Amino acid sequence: MKPRDRLRIAVQKSGRLGDPSQDLLARCGLKFRQSRDKLFCFGESLAIDLLLVRDDDIPGLIADGVCDLGIVGRNVLAEQQAAVAARGETPAVDELRPLGFGRCRLSIAVPQELDYAGPSSLAGLRVATTYPALTAAWFAANGVDAKVVLLKGSVEIAPKLGTADAICDLVSTGSTLVANQLREAAAILDSEAVLAGAGVAPNDERGELLELLLRRIDGVIQVRESKLVMLHAPRASIAGIARLLPPGQRPTITPIEGSPDEVALQAVCHGAITWQHLEDMKRAGASGMLVLPVEKMLA
Ligand code: ATP
Ligand code: MG
Repeated sequence: MKPRDRLRIAVQKSGRLGDPSQDLLARCGLKFRQSRDKLFCFGESLAIDLLLVRDDDIPGLIADGVCDLGIVGRNVLAEQQAAVAARGETPAVDELRPLGFGRCRLSIAVPQELDYAGPSSLAGLRVATTYPALTAAWFAANGVDAKVVLLKGSVEIAPKLGTADAICDLVSTGSTLVANQLREAAAILDSEAVLAGAGVAPNDERGELLELLLRRIDGVIQVRESKLVMLHAPRASIAGIARLLPPGQRPTITPIEGSPDEVALQAVCHGAITWQHLEDMKRAGASGMLVLPVEKMLA
């Protein structure tokens, strides 16, 4: 590989991860000019460029050194890692960060009428999948001998067509399974989009860019998961209410003009604030609760 002084990231050209990937990089302050063939984006704000590709190609592009990083589903990365491991080699591409979007799971699904009592129920059956290495590794780990049938697409109709007895495919809501009279039997991998990179970081200018990008991604993810919570409560119950909040910065508690027994609480929390949280805090005495998104944060 020729030495490069610009960092190159592979992202999905279109599809489910395309827009959220570019959105994440934009939030990191990266600006791009797209080439006319729309396959390459030149980084204008930093020496970081994008290559727009099919998601299946991303782990290989990193392994070959064509790109330094990639944004890809854990399912695609883990499949490549499992395939490399099955050949007795060491995977050269690692997951650097989970990114919190594109969530789904890789699951075994069986026809409604099949009695599933655990992995051994699939012994001797044919299981269709686009993820042969992960599926085979799961069967091996469970000591079950099943036949893995590789299909490139429309895996969910294989049982109906008679080309397989069960499938191993991505599930998010499960509606595709229901539409094909299948039910989810076991999740073998929880997936989301991840930042993938070579096991060894480049030790030139690109290494510094990589560090900078990782710091910005961490900041963006932390902000996305952070909420500003504001509420009023009796002074006597405020400590108990603060304990009900998800972890975060130490809350600020201020007196309320004209209400000596009441105080206002303001806290930045990391993690989801659910209706359950609000209801629990209300029961503990809180009122006027507000939950606001955080735009930017600098400690
Ligand atoms: P490409 O043309 O780039 O090969 P694709 O058809 O293989 O695209 P998409 O359907 O866009 O891929 O899915 C990309 C990724 O989105 C998946 O690998 C997975 O990580 C994630 N994803 C999230 N939910 C789902 C879902 N319900 N079905 C499939 N993929 C999902
Ligand atoms: Mg694909």
